Amino acid sequence: MHISRNTDVQPTDISMTEKSPASEWIMIAVCSAFYIALSFFLRDISTHSTEQMKLFGMVLSNHDFSGIVSQAQILFSAYLTISTRKKGMIAAILLNLTGIVFALFGIIYTGELYALSGIISYFGSIIICIVIYYYKKGLLSYFKRLSEQKEEITSLYEEISASQDKMSKQNEQLVKYNRLMNENKKQLEYMAFYDTLTGLPNRKMIIKKLDMLIHYSGINNTGFSFIYIDIDNFKEVNDLMGHQIGDKILQIVAERLKKGVDERDVVGRLGGDEFALIVRRELSRDEILKYADSFKSAIAEVCTCDNKEFYINASFGISIFPVDGETTEDLLKNADIAMHSIKRSGKNGISFFCSEMQISLLKRSRIENGLKSAVNNEELYLVFQPQYYCDTGRIRGFEALCRWNSESLGHVSPAQFIPIAEETGLIIEIGEWILRTVMHRFREMQEASRMDFKLTINISVVQIVQPSFLRMVKKVLQDTQFDSKYLEFEITESVLISYPEKVVDTLNQLREMGISIALDDFGTGYASLKYLQMLPIDTLKIDRTFVSRIGETDHGNQIIGSIIWLAHSLGITVIAEGVENAEQLEYLKKQNCDCLQGYLLSRPLEEEQFSKLIG
Ligand code: C2E
Ligand code: CA
Ligand code: CA
Repeated sequence: MHISRNTDVQPTDISMTEKSPASEWIMIAVCSAFYIALSFFLRDISTHSTEQMKLFGMVLSNHDFSGIVSQAQILFSAYLTISTRKKGMIAAILLNLTGIVFALFGIIYTGELYALSGIISYFGSIIICIVIYYYKKGLLSYFKRLSEQKEEITSLYEEISASQDKMSKQNEQLVKYNRLMNENKKQLEYMAFYDTLTGLPNRKMIIKKLDMLIHYSGINNTGFSFIYIDIDNFKEVNDLMGHQIGDKILQIVAERLKKGVDERDVVGRLGGDEFALIVRRELSRDEILKYADSFKSAIAEVCTCDNKEFYINASFGISIFPVDGETTEDLLKNADIAMHSIKRSGKNGISFFCSEMQISLLKRSRIENGLKSAVNNEELYLVFQPQYYCDTGRIRGFEALCRWNSESLGHVSPAQFIPIAEETGLIIEIGEWILRTVMHRFREMQEASRMDFKLTINISVVQIVQPSFLRMVKKVLQDTQFDSKYLEFEITESVLISYPEKVVDTLNQLREMGISIALDDFGTGYASLKYLQMLPIDTLKIDRTFVSRIGETDHGNQIIGSIIWLAHSLGITVIAEGVENAEQLEYLKKQNCDCLQGYLLSRPLEEEQFSKLIG
């Protein structure tokens, strides 16, 4: 609401009728002069009372004339009173009284009553003047009061307008504030239930949806499934490529999940590199597997960030309502267990939850606890498996393999405890201990027997991506006085596939330090033969799964032959792992394989046997 201000009428309007004293006197003088002139005119008429007079062509009697003159005198008197108020009124009364006096003299002097109408007219004038004066006086004071009231109203009005302006400004401010509050509220609501990086529903929302679905499915006796998705080696991506690239990869994965999800289902981000998919339909296991596999393939497609290409994989764990859990907590926990079982068996796969997984989880947590004190309790030790030259049969070197004789768990295989040490980060401490212990021991033996064997040590992906890794290696070399030309690090190909540039850089620096690099378990992962050219490696270790298939099919044999041929053409030494029988040995020899390692030639040796062999 807005009151418009009317500034047209001012409270001073009434006073405008007032005249200056000089002009008032002039006005009185002029009007009096006219009045007196008319009086003489009247007398003149009276002297010619018998004659007729002409005015503007009209023939008028002297009575008509005296009437007109009387009217004019009344008008002058009234005009004087109106225009000059008190002064005018007094002047008019005086003039009319004079008129009366003259008329009375006339009557007395002539003895005729013809001037009587004039006397009545003069009296009439006097009364009119008095009435006008008092009326005008009343009118003026009324206008004055009105003007004062108007002034009051105007100032009140101005005050109201000013406060109205203020109020409208405050109102605007309030509207703005309210809008901001609403936006903030919406933002807060969004942040409470949605992930800001990917725009997907967050953990809270997923839990809410699961709670609702369990309630609904319980009533309707229907089933549904929950899929836990975790990106493989994401921590290393973040450590090596930085959080910005990590975030972009998460966004790409989120987009791919959104694109592939059925409109009936819900996809969300549980946090970090963990995503969730609620399949709100009762599907068969085969159908769920097919559905999960479509997401696995979508994630595995090349990711391009900052003009760099990345290959990302993910592990999937599935729990089904109600068989694998009747509560949200159980469904989440069991899908997580299933997902971790995939992680442990090589990642990049899909697994349904089963009760045995819980048992292995228990075992795993016991291993994890035991590992924490394994180094300090001196429960770890090393064995050495020799590698032989194919042509001469001489020993090329030894691969150091870690062993753990736990006080509480007994002998635990490295295939079991190494992945757990990697996942928990304990491998960093254990890895340094292995490096230091084995180099120290080897150095002692070198001094005693002047041996020139290679010492090959397995380096985990978790170790190599540590920013302090190179510094640590240099320090151990220095402390143990070990000659780096005898040292070879074995790394698995997965590390090179996931983080090519950074790792290639580290490998080059290790080579500059004189350490040679072996690519372990070749053939189990995704490294293609073509990929070999790009890698700074000196040795290639063909995985024992390949070797074990020798003789099975011609095709398998041919692949091994091609690998050896290509590696040689790139100047890379080839070692075949897991050689267990003579047929394999003969075939590998025929294919010009450089070195062999396996139970056929020697099992990993404990220190005593190892000392005997080289001594
Ligand atoms: P790997 O690096 O491929 O090591 C070779 C594995 O194959 C060893 O198992 C060895 O005992 C076994 N092996 C050797 N020849 C034969 C054969 O003819 N037949 C069969 N069936 N097996 C053979 P191990 O010692 O149990 O180690 C298993 C894995 O644990 C290793 O595979 C390696 O990935 C990891 N590992 C062992 N020690 C270390 C270590 O000190 N550091 C790290 N990072 N990983 C280690
Ligand atoms: Ca190895
Ligand atoms: Ca191997």
